[in-house]
Amino acid sequence: MRRMIHKRATRQLEAVYEALQGDSTHPFADEIYRRVRKKLPRISLATVYRNLQRLVEDGKIRMVLLGERIARYDPEVSDHDHFVCETCGCIRDLFLERERQMDLAPLAQAGFVVTSLHLTVYGVCHMCSQQAGRPGTTISSRAIMAQSGHRAAFGQLVDADSGCFDADV
Ligand SMILES: [Zn+2]
Ligand SMILES: [Zn+2]
Repeated sequence: MRRMIHKRATRQLEAVYEALQGDSTHPFADEIYRRVRKKLPRISLATVYRNLQRLVEDGKIRMVLLGERIARYDPEVSDHDHFVCETCGCIRDLFLERERQMDLAPLAQAGFVVTSLHLTVYGVCHMCSQQAGRPGTTISSRAIMAQSGHRAAFGQLVDADSGCFDADV
């Protein structure tokens, strides 16, 4: 019995891990849950969260907060920064120079302990900047959609417009 439980736990962990591989959109947990459920229909959101947490602790995936309160998950475990498109909300990994000149001594003097430093660059992705020039494209309605918190529509928007991820940076 214990063995069966262990087997199920391993299968769940693997399914959660696999659901994120090859995905550079930095999805929220509920999107990962939706994917895993296709494979394991009885899995709960709490179990998906627990497995995501474990994978983060094991260094197999990363958790990122990009100015939002909800965590996103990232299969790219190397040190990197992010670009966030303010129009469509898409996110792109940035591999910028890591040797940044930044004086954090005042923080240390004030008693803060710095554990990591990440840069989030905000702007307009190449797909959105191209579309802004096209007649009949309402950037404003897309931005409203992205900000409305309608996750499903937002997800489709990102999936449909993968241009953000194809651009060479
Ligand atoms: Zn965009
Ligand atoms: Zn990333």
